[in-house]
This record gives sequence, structure tokens and C-alpha cells, in this order.
Amino acid sequence: MANIWYIQVNRHCNNACHFCSNPSNGNNISYERWIELLDDFKERGYDWIIFTWWEPTLSPDLPKWIEYSKKIWMNNRMISNGMMCANPKFMQRLADAWLELVHFSVYSCYDKVHDFLTDTPGSWKKLMLSITNSLNSGIRVQINTVINHYNETHLDKTVQFLTKLFPPIRHFVWNNLDPEMMRKTDTAWSTLPNFDNFKPSLNNAMTYLTETGRTFRAEKMPLCYVPGHEWCSTETRKIVKDEERIVYFLDEREMIHEVEWGHEKLEKCKTCDLNSICSWVYEYEQFYNYVDVYPQKLTKEERKKIIEDIKR
Ligand code: SF4
Repeated sequence: MANIWYIQVNRHCNNACHFCSNPSNGNNISYERWIELLDDFKERGYDWIIFTWWEPTLSPDLPKWIEYSKKIWMNNRMISNGMMCANPKFMQRLADAWLELVHFSVYSCYDKVHDFLTDTPGSWKKLMLSITNSLNSGIRVQINTVINHYNETHLDKTVQFLTKLFPPIRHFVWNNLDPEMMRKTDTAWSTLPNFDNFKPSLNNAMTYLTETGRTFRAEKMPLCYVPGHEWCSTETRKIVKDEERIVYFLDEREMIHEVEWGHEKLEKCKTCDLNSICSWVYEYEQFYNYVDVYPQKLTKEERKKIIEDIKR
């Protein structure tokens, strides 16, 4: 069982993504508090720490935290927008501290689309440099992509572009957009994806990755939108493997211990053979009430295979 601890180390950023789910409040975690939390989670048996939102590379203590996590034998990785790591000296500093893995957030293979979504001209170019620097420093790279209206029809092209440019990248993660705390502007609302539009390009991307021996996950994804790839749903995997995670927020929520992975479903879901392992969508009532579902019919063997694939 892989239990993962997500920690927000600051709440400011050098990008301004329209759909950012954790708006700036200027908070930072202190070095001492961080060490205290890390020791506590090590004792609770957590084996992975993920440095995350807004932008961990803007915390001057980041190399010291990475060094400390290695000292107590905790695996580490960070999620980054790839702005700071475009500087090879900065990247090398993180490599010297023993950073193991970076998830870079790439929204599109098209620079204009990415720069529009980050609201930061030149961010795509820096991101490509960051991936290059990371791989050159011996740090593994994985790609995170938030699915949204502006990339929903070319998710497959983005994956093909990145794997051709950077063959060592072996793992991709797609996140369904979380609208709860994003900016309340017309542009931000316009980023909400059309699920039927992204389904073909997402499934093409998944098939391509499978055929090229790569792996992938999809977060907050109803299983009827990834037919044949159900095992890749992060929430389904957590339901099947009985996993938990703790997220440390730098706001009034502070610590959230997640052990439940399902959301209230539609009436139609009751007839679906995937109902017990599907988490449906987050925030249906408020934001995603335009999304339809497609109840699935599976044989006992097909259902058993999904469970076995996840456990394997
Ligand atoms: S119909 Fe409902 S339970 Fe079935 S896969 Fe779709 S969202 Fe999940």
C-alpha cells in the first residue's frame, strides 16, 4: 500500500493559470514546521512526500527539505510549473539535494495554448528547457496535464509530441479540472471541459502510451469516459487497494485526511457494473451538471480483470 503525503510549501506562483485550484494567499510554511510534519508522517508510515502547489521551486528552503527527506529515507517528488528549472544551475541544485522525480505541468504541445492557459507569455518555452535540464541532471520526469476546453481535442498530440522530444518520459497523469476554487472570471469558466469532446483524444493518448510501453493515470475521471483503461483511474485504484492520502493545505483547511474516494452519483449509475469502483465526478451539482454518464455492462471476468490489473 503506497500512502502519499501532499504538502503545500507556499501559496504564491510565477504563473497565473486561469483554472488554478489553490489561489494565492501569500502563505509559506516555515522550515521548522516542515521538519516537524515530516517526522510525524514518517512515523505514521508514509513513504512518499510530494511538494506541491502553488510553486515549490519558489521556496528558498526546498533543497534543505529534499535533503532532510532523503536523510530519513522518505521518497520525494515535486509538482512544478517548470519556470525556475529552466535555469540549469537551479536544476542542478535540486539534483544535488537528491530530488528524485518532477511532475511538470504541461497543458499542450502548442506553445500559444499553454501560454494562454498559464496567463504567462514564454512559460511553454521555459517548461521545455526545464524538462531538458531535469533529464540532463538525472532527475526523472513525469507529465501532469489538466484537461480543459482548450486542450481537450489534442491530448493525444501532446503526448506524442512530448514522447518524441523526450523519449525517457515514461509516465503521464491527466487531471480533470477542479473548479471549486478557481478564478471566477469568464475566461476561467470557459476552461471547463466538454467530456464527450475529450474522450476520443484521451483514449487515443492512452492507447498510444500502452503501445509504447508507458504508463498513465487519470484523476477525477468517471470510468465510462475511459473504457478499456479503467485501471488507470487514481480513485478506482485507491478504492481497490484501500489507500489513503494526507494533504497539508496552507489555509484554514490545514490537514485533510482522504480515505473516501467516491462522490454521490447519478440515478443511472445504479445500473452500471462499475458503480462500486467508480468515483464519478467531483462537484457535479455545482459545476459539472452538464456531464452525462454511460452505464457500462461488463462480464464477471472483465470486472475481475480490472481489479487484477490494479493489484498487479
Ligand atoms: S455510469 Fe456512473 S458508475 Fe458507471 S462508469 Fe459512468 S460515472 Fe461511473
